[in-house]
Amino acid sequence: MRCFVVFILLSFLISCEKDDGLVFPPTQESIASEFRNRFGLEVQQVPVVFNEFNSHYVSVIYLNGTRYRIYLTNSGQILTNRITPLFPKGQQRVLCIVRLPSLFEQNLDFFIREWESAQTAINEQHATLAQQNGLENSLVSFKNDNYYVSQNDFPAWDPNRNSIEDFKLFAANNQIDIATYDILLLLDLDINNPNGGVGSWESAFAKVGWFYEDTDLSVERLNGIAYAAYHHEIGHVWGWEHEWTDPYDNNGGFITEPSLFGWSDINGNGVPEIIDENQY
Ligand SMILES: [Zn+2]
Repeated sequence: MRCFVVFILLSFLISCEKDDGLVFPPTQESIASEFRNRFGLEVQQVPVVFNEFNSHYVSVIYLNGTRYRIYLTNSGQILTNRITPLFPKGQQRVLCIVRLPSLFEQNLDFFIREWESAQTAINEQHATLAQQNGLENSLVSFKNDNYYVSQNDFPAWDPNRNSIEDFKLFAANNQIDIATYDILLLLDLDINNPNGGVGSWESAFAKVGWFYEDTDLSVERLNGIAYAAYHHEIGHVWGWEHEWTDPYDNNGGFITEPSLFGWSDINGNGVPEIIDENQY
């Protein structure tokens, strides 16, 4: 009898409905119904990921040019937003300006070789993910055009100024058609001013600084810069938010659980949602 009561209590706690009818823990179907109610979207199955660090469930879908996001907190609050970023799919052309301190210019051959091999490694990661999903082609690949400039030839990144204007001027002076690029990426590797990154979906702009405290140039560090640029900051360009991701999760080497970028087949028709004709 006692076991029976405990069982009833446990069942109640495990699947208790919050005040406004939310199901806990949420299922693909229950969150899909929130997407229908709150955004008017006809979806049946959506990704649901629990983020332990932020104590909330996260669901994200990319549909008809819009990225929709739902957080469901442990207290039963639903937080939503929608934006229209570049989607995380297809070949993306990146205009990458690398602003080099003279110390790195003295090792320019090494720098170029290892930076470009770090960029290749990012594309290989996407190729591996595609293979794991039984796909012939990568869901995302980057076609990078790198320009290596000394610190005097390109303005330092400044949070109070729009670097896009600097890109436009640089492009005009170097006969580059900036309109053919999907993403503008600035590596402002000022070793005297270690600083982090930014990524903006509104302007499809990403910037990474030399965030290490010393000036040792190594393969490992260039791979770290590439991770910051192509996963973290370009993640923001695609509409990723820090709160999607538990910082302790490795996510298979990606910045977030791949299903939140539409990189897995959620509705079981064999095609990852981001390229699926019948999504979610
Ligand atoms: Zn960030």
